[in-house]
Amino acid sequence: MKALSVASEIYPLVKTGGLADVAGALPGALATEGVTVHSLVPGYPAVLDALPSVEEAARFADLFGGPARLLAGQAFGLNVLAIEAPHLYARAGALYGHADDAHRFAALGWVAAEIGRGAVAGFVPDVVHAHDWQAGLAPTYLHYGDGRRPGTVMTVHNLAFQGQFPAHLLGPLRLPAAAWAIEGVEYYGAIGFLKAGLLLADRVTTVSPTYADEIRTDPGGMGLGGLLRARGNALRGILNGIDTQVWDPATDANLAARYDASGLQSRAANKTALQAQLGLEPDPEALLVGVVTRLTWQKGADLLAEALPGLFAAGGQVALLGSGEPALEMAFAAAAATHTGRVGVRIGYDEELAHLIQGGADVIAVPSRFEPCGLTQLCALRYGALPLVARVGGLADTVIDANEMALAAGVATGLQFAPVTREALEVALGRAMRLWGDQAAWRQVQRNAMAADVGWTRPAKHYAEVYRAAVG
Ligand code: ADP
Repeated sequence: MKALSVASEIYPLVKTGGLADVAGALPGALATEGVTVHSLVPGYPAVLDALPSVEEAARFADLFGGPARLLAGQAFGLNVLAIEAPHLYARAGALYGHADDAHRFAALGWVAAEIGRGAVAGFVPDVVHAHDWQAGLAPTYLHYGDGRRPGTVMTVHNLAFQGQFPAHLLGPLRLPAAAWAIEGVEYYGAIGFLKAGLLLADRVTTVSPTYADEIRTDPGGMGLGGLLRARGNALRGILNGIDTQVWDPATDANLAARYDASGLQSRAANKTALQAQLGLEPDPEALLVGVVTRLTWQKGADLLAEALPGLFAAGGQVALLGSGEPALEMAFAAAAATHTGRVGVRIGYDEELAHLIQGGADVIAVPSRFEPCGLTQLCALRYGALPLVARVGGLADTVIDANEMALAAGVATGLQFAPVTREALEVALGRAMRLWGDQAAWRQVQRNAMAADVGWTRPAKHYAEVYRAAVG
């Protein structure tokens, strides 16, 4: 089977979040399922720079305001199809938030549909797999096109980002008048890229079974709950994996000491390195809570900031890496200034430090208010840093709470808390402290965590099933 994956980010070429990780790892995993994947991405400067040699696979005289070429090349084991369209993608600064985002990402969906209809000689996909709102018009253009078309799959990685644009763009975005309907792209008086994809794709997936349930409710559906309920069995939750070669504590070059589940004492050297790097007291006994996150309301970063004093009073430390909302960045910078040696903060994006936090922290806290899947807790499991997570979305599906029964049965892999409040987070941190006090029990939970299956093999089987259903 041949699949075209359509996403606006792909690791390691361009990444702002978990979407890139998934788009980068899934093609390799699908290969073992007999699915050959080509990945269509916008030709941002970083993408074009990463392609050592390319061939022209197609040409477009006018791609929403200028000429464009489709360039085929290989990078990092990926078959990349990059849209070279300087008028849309040759930009400095952030990936999103440009005045012409509607055109920039309609172009992504439009080119995907062209490839779906055979624009690239030698690669006619059986299925077009669109990721998130940026690719939401791919199933849409295919739906309104004539003739034979491939199966379509729409995956939503975060329903909070929906891609809504003014109605007057219908014609400029090359959408037919018939698309202006509740059964089409119309969404509360605007054009909804994600809405259209969720409605018009043959199959819909999201990134965990619990999130698939949550988004069918009115509060969790964020305006799309009714539509998603109506899709019935066409919607399925498939947990993400992580790239277990990129995230492997036995070979990770970013760590001060590499280790596996039989050599957990080696983590101490990583903890020492992490404490030194972030200006924390060099204290092997302190429970070190790591955080790697976008600093946003969704991620519950404000709850964590509020819970810090209690954690420090109990002897804990915090190592935080993140960037995002200025108020949250300031709150953590202020905490670092007040509680010198107890909290180390790095504002920014830093892959290497993210790995050291996973390999050196005792706990990875993920207090999200909602979380479609979450990847940092999967990395934490693999690195033997116990995930302490809110019981929502994919966090609920991937961490087994260390309650009395799970401890007795030897299956616990971390800690969960609910509801997502400061109080419940503080209770969970207290429970982590008590477990930390019993080092034998702690080690056992670490070993359970490291044995958890967090790879892509199982999810890839499920995606292959969905592709077959979409084609059928
Ligand atoms: P989301 O996509 O909602 O931000 P996920 O948990 O699904 O959250 O994925 C986040 C990914 O981005 C993980 O791979 C995580 O390690 C990484 N990440 C997040 N913030 C940072 C940061 N400041 N520095 C380095 N990596 C980060």
